[in-house]
Amino acid sequence: MLTLPELSYDYSALEPHIDAKTMEIHHSKHHKAYVDKTNAALEGTEFLDKPIEEIISNLDQVPEDKRAAIRNNGGGVINHNMFWMCLSPQGGGEPEGGLKSAIDDAFGGFEPLKIKFTEAALTQFGSGWAWLVQDGENLSVIKTSNQDSPLTMGETAIAESPLRPILCIDVWEHAYYLKYQNRRPEYVEAFWNVVDWKEAGRKFVDK
Ligand code: MN
Repeated sequence: MLTLPELSYDYSALEPHIDAKTMEIHHSKHHKAYVDKTNAALEGTEFLDKPIEEIISNLDQVPEDKRAAIRNNGGGVINHNMFWMCLSPQGGGEPEGGLKSAIDDAFGGFEPLKIKFTEAALTQFGSGWAWLVQDGENLSVIKTSNQDSPLTMGETAIAESPLRPILCIDVWEHAYYLKYQNRRPEYVEAFWNVVDWKEAGRKFVDK
């Protein structure tokens, strides 16, 4: 059974960049609904007690009539679990250490990464996510639709070509509409002030 994780900061802690009401509804309603619906879809199957990351990475093994529900809601669980960890009241600034070096190598610096990541977040048509991912020794920026995850990207099995999520932003309207309405660019700009680069650095595997 999946449970809704507690946040390590208050709903109001990311103000003014992400407002308390948005955080409260996003976590206690949207994220909780993904948890509940995933549990409902998994009920009565052998997958109920497996890690959701493992289930999502092997969607072809779950019963066909549950596959869409698990892809959408289980993806929502994984993506939001990660998203809250990408944010911090002490966030902002720039990446350091091995992650900084890898960003310099892959994008030519932090500013070019910001531009590329922002572009992905703004050009994701409709609901979805933008990601900084590690693929072997390389970093790249990708976007996914709905609640698809880097763990389900591509035809290649995850074991052969894992895309390791380093940083993500939720660009579903529920992530910003209360404060920013249709102004997604302002939300994405504000996001950089609360990015937890220490956590991103922990997710990065220095080769
Ligand atoms: Mn969301």
